Amino acid sequence: MALTCKQVWGLVSDYLEGTLATPLRDAMTGHLVDCPRCTAIVNGVRNIIDLVADGRIFALPAGFSERLKDRLKKELDLSQNEGGGPVLLIAADEKP
Ligand SMILES: [Zn+2]
Repeated sequence: MALTCKQVWGLVSDYLEGTLATPLRDAMTGHLVDCPRCTAIVNGVRNIIDLVADGRIFALPAGFSERLKDRLKKELDLSQNEGGGPVLLIAADEKP
């Protein structure tokens, strides 16, 4: 089974939680071997999960996740048009 990058992006959290069925997990592992872009995304998400689990991330301001989602959606729409990948954003203009 071969996965596209887009399919991999949709499976990152399940992959990291270990809840993927074995064939999917193996397909994803195989994809990551050959795809530095998806590997970077998986590593980035894993780092965020580690930080949250350790309580090292501060509480997000009200409405932050909605704004982040809107922004990610815009970035994803843009990057799909350009054939690029998702962009992990640091919302530098957000005030806590
Ligand atoms: Zn990929």
